[in-house]
Amino acid sequence: MTKHRSNGRGPLTRELLQRIPKVLLHEHLDGGLRPATVLELAAEARYGDLPESDADKLGEWFHLGAARGELGLYLEGFRHTIAVMQTADALERVAYEFIEDMAEDGVIYAEVRFAPHYHTQKGLGLDAVMRAVLKGLKRGSAQFHVSFGLIVCAMRNEPETLSMKMAELAVTYRNEGCVGFDLAGEEAGNPAGEHQRAFEFAKRENFAITIHAGESFGPKSIWQALHFCGAHRIGHGTRLVEDIVLYQGKVIKLEPLAQYVLDHRIPLEICLSSNVHTGACESLAAHPFPVFLRQGFRVTLNTDNRLMSRTTMTDELLIAAETFGCTLADLEKISINSMKSAFAHYDYRVKTIFERIKPGYAKLRAELAS
Ligand SMILES: [Zn+2]
Repeated sequence: MTKHRSNGRGPLTRELLQRIPKVLLHEHLDGGLRPATVLELAAEARYGDLPESDADKLGEWFHLGAARGELGLYLEGFRHTIAVMQTADALERVAYEFIEDMAEDGVIYAEVRFAPHYHTQKGLGLDAVMRAVLKGLKRGSAQFHVSFGLIVCAMRNEPETLSMKMAELAVTYRNEGCVGFDLAGEEAGNPAGEHQRAFEFAKRENFAITIHAGESFGPKSIWQALHFCGAHRIGHGTRLVEDIVLYQGKVIKLEPLAQYVLDHRIPLEICLSSNVHTGACESLAAHPFPVFLRQGFRVTLNTDNRLMSRTTMTDELLIAAETFGCTLADLEKISINSMKSAFAHYDYRVKTIFERIKPGYAKLRAELAS
């Protein structure tokens, strides 16, 4: 494929991609801190376990630690970020800076997720944790004009009783900016079906569900997320490609699960860089993203963990353009897919597509044509 294609008129530069109105659906609050913030919060909390005392070196450490091709190793860095996010002030700051970073990256709507029970090690209650994060997100949103949705994560390796508690917590804050419920953590040995009760509760409450699946386990994990737990979106979904018969890169046949995901327009929250770092994919070139995109799956592009994967939304779009030859039209399609799939209300989604995303792309197209 031709590199840097943009409808044949000019290069898709980083500067141009930064200005594209972007939508982010899959990012972890504890995976996106600024290295300098980790250092300052560690000093405030008298946390002495950080491996580096210089912000650049610490950022590098997080990235090198994460990029070892295995999910378990990738998750190690979270011990440090979670350790410094144990007070209301720290949580509020991290949430606020997340929105500031989104504005800098040209993101107009962002959903961010976290597991609230990881932040109660120093005595904060679950409500205090939620209130602090929402306060930071709201303050950032008012200042930087980025809309947000918060997603609460339950963890696969923890008891169903705890998942149930998280589902109830998420629903309690539905009018404060909490828009969804997720299941995260190691897939192998921890099937989503074990958390069915929590997800049935969320469904009965008419709440939105996304589940990490098909990242470190195969199609069966996606099948459980959809049919045992009622997921509306799939986090990653990378290994859905194992349910597609390919010959020399061409799709020969979709097996029933892949066909279902395509037919029912189930959004796939694809995270290109992160998938290489966790080993869900051997390399960027081997990622099934172009297969999903060309076949018409509802693909979205996301960062997952900006600190660990040392990435931004602009970077992920640049990868889509450089590695997979995505055009401006492809990127517009992906941005619209993302907004269609957001857990924001329908009227907001339509308005954002027609008043922000389409005009934003039209402006860039005009610039490139002139
Ligand atoms: Zn994730």
